[in-house]
Amino acid sequence: MKTDSTTWSTEESADIYGIKNWGADYFSVSDAGEVIVHPHGNGIGVSLRKIVDGLTDRGLDMPVLLRFSDILDSRIKLLHEGFGRAIKDFEYQGHYRGVYPIKVNQQQQVLEEITEFGARYHHGLEAGSKPELIAALSYMHDPEAYLICNGYKDEEFVELGLYACKMGLQCIFVVETPSELELIIDRSKTLDIAPNIGVRLKLSTQASGHWNHSGGERSVFGLNPSQVCDLVDRLKEVDMLDCLQLLHYHVGSQIPNIRDIREAVVEACRVYIGLVNEGAPMGILDLGGGLAVDYDGSHGDTEASRNYNLDEYCVAIVENLASTLAESEVPHPDIVTESGRATVAYYSVLLFNILDESRFEISDLPTELPENAHELLHNLMAVVKVVSLRNAQECFHDAFYYRDEIHERFKRGTMTLRDRALAGSIFWHIITRVAKLTEQMDYIPNELRKLPAMLADIYYGNFSLFQSLPDVWAIDQLFPVMPIHRLDEKPTREVVVADITCDCDGKIDRFVGQHTTRDSLPLHNLTDEEYYLGVFLVGAYQETLGDLHNLLGDTNVITVEVDREGHLNYSRELEGDSVADVLSYVEYDPKNMIRRIRKLAETAVRNDAISAKDRRHIMDAFESGMRGYTYFER
Ligand SMILES: *Cc1c(COP(=O)(O)O)cnc(C)c1O
Repeated sequence: MKTDSTTWSTEESADIYGIKNWGADYFSVSDAGEVIVHPHGNGIGVSLRKIVDGLTDRGLDMPVLLRFSDILDSRIKLLHEGFGRAIKDFEYQGHYRGVYPIKVNQQQQVLEEITEFGARYHHGLEAGSKPELIAALSYMHDPEAYLICNGYKDEEFVELGLYACKMGLQCIFVVETPSELELIIDRSKTLDIAPNIGVRLKLSTQASGHWNHSGGERSVFGLNPSQVCDLVDRLKEVDMLDCLQLLHYHVGSQIPNIRDIREAVVEACRVYIGLVNEGAPMGILDLGGGLAVDYDGSHGDTEASRNYNLDEYCVAIVENLASTLAESEVPHPDIVTESGRATVAYYSVLLFNILDESRFEISDLPTELPENAHELLHNLMAVVKVVSLRNAQECFHDAFYYRDEIHERFKRGTMTLRDRALAGSIFWHIITRVAKLTEQMDYIPNELRKLPAMLADIYYGNFSLFQSLPDVWAIDQLFPVMPIHRLDEKPTREVVVADITCDCDGKIDRFVGQHTTRDSLPLHNLTDEEYYLGVFLVGAYQETLGDLHNLLGDTNVITVEVDREGHLNYSRELEGDSVADVLSYVEYDPKNMIRRIRKLAETAVRNDAISAKDRRHIMDAFESGMRGYTYFER
């Protein structure tokens, strides 16, 4: 970056953090250098910094997870409008009916809002377990929406679903394993309620991407074509083929390549036609999830992205269904998709403040070496004196070679602690110089590209990666991270962001850049003013996968609504876990703990170690600690 800070523009900030690429129509940078959220997509926007100020004025501490209800509303709308247009353009005869897979974000508020915003489109739900089915039944009462039941089903699960049918809901059991069918037949005969049956198909189509393992012939779930035929035969045998209504498949989440989506839909459509020809009524084709989110904004067929947009997704599906069905007499089925990630990812933003920094610093280079210095130290010193653009890579290798030799000798006891410290300092001077020289290189060799990250400073963020961004730790998922203010200033530091767990895995060291991912993030110098970072697109899968590492609990969650005039409404507040809450999750009894500490204090009073007044202060401190937030409180 050759611009100096006086000429730095917010445009340049927008570029280095790639916000125009991943922000969809929901996030942008204002002229004042703040991140703006546009909850309705384009148009009306509110500064995240302003939202944070509103929260701190109300005494709500960082970290905080913001949910934007209007974004959820907008996502559901776009999904239905996208399919609506494609259906019209291709004169497709069936309807589109979306369902939301509860596992992607099971929070009560999410379910409530999805059923509310989705009502006008008869958007349904997908439940993968008994608790999810029970949650679905208590929130979704639309007789025209589908309630798709995937996952393992026990007797209780099946009976609940059957009662739901009896009450007028379109609850459909998707048979995932051959044995499940018998249970459904048995319970429906006993209760005398006709079930709606679907079948999950194992496709031979396998998609690329991180989560593709649910698809393909070796996938754990679903029936292969021969088992599907067995199911048809069995249903005929018990005179229940008229219950078979739906064919389902799920190739995997976050499918990056549109070609895989097309191939899967065509293969499934052939099976669908086969089932109709077998005499099943059918009527619904359920394509599962997979609609991907462009996390890194690259619009490519990589794990963190996708090479298509929502409209292309809808067109690919409707067009291929229409053309495949055109060769048969089979009526067009209703299309169901179970889009989770694409529905909720944009909805939530994690905000936290930076508590502290650890600078990458090296002591000054000595002007000359001590008289008796080891030959290896002289060699290292010779390298630092000759580093230039021409020999940078060679010096880089030499530095590593001599440093490693010195480490070896130190381990064997033939070099002193002082020698080793000196070697470290000279080594880092060489590396810093080489790093500086890479800025002038036309082509940067691969091994030198990692240098800025090696020399990065560490900023400590007030959050827990394990609680709030588990996929960053578990599967190296990439989320956009950037400051939410000061974007009219040039960022002068290269930083890796660590959390406040004492775990060395608790850090973010892969970031979304302008066109590539990067190993460090350009950030601003810390000043007396709080510095806030936002992690974006975290609405899918992160909330309930999180754990209590270091007993850091749920963050505060605030729901923000923005009306068409741009007025803010903090419509819901969910207080994060207190220390007592998380302790009780791991089976401590906070009351009992207080009793035990009181006993310790009283013994100390008796032994004259503390006064009775001290005891009172100590107990006050303990009790207020118990009530407090698990994160760093300023
Ligand atoms: C997880 C899952 C989904 C959600 O997939 P997304 O890619 O998040 O839309 C849908 N259907 C089934 C069966 C799933 O297991």
